[in-house]
Amino acid sequence: MIVVCPACSAKNRVPEDKLTAHPTCGQCHQALIPLAPIDLNEQNFSQFIQHSDLPILIDLWAEWCGPCKMMAPHFAQVAAQYPQVIFAKINTEENPRLSSAFNVRSIPTLVLMNKTTEIARISGALRSTELKQWLDQHLTSNP
Ligand SMILES: [Zn+2]
Repeated sequence: MIVVCPACSAKNRVPEDKLTAHPTCGQCHQALIPLAPIDLNEQNFSQFIQHSDLPILIDLWAEWCGPCKMMAPHFAQVAAQYPQVIFAKINTEENPRLSSAFNVRSIPTLVLMNKTTEIARISGALRSTELKQWLDQHLTSNP
């Protein structure tokens, strides 16, 4: 499957059974599937979303948002446990066009995407157990 490098946006072909073996980018040698959330923005978003074969869970957040900050460590913790899902963060203030493209009404909002298709979304801060439950539910119904 195709995994887009979060550091240089190069497309890498990775066999599905190697996803958990910490693959690195053929171009820049950075980790292809970092176990920490990556940052997406208006520059790299469309390349990433169009070409990545892995589902992407996006956290739409802002600096001033207390619940977003409360959720951040939970989001990072769950990211480390799901190598088959890309965890990404979008700063809604720095990326107003993405924010309006997602039609964000309140933050934090989590959006689970498979390529350009939105699979599910949920608003409000979640703890790691709630986040995993929600994610498992939507990953199994959309393999
Ligand atoms: Zn790279």
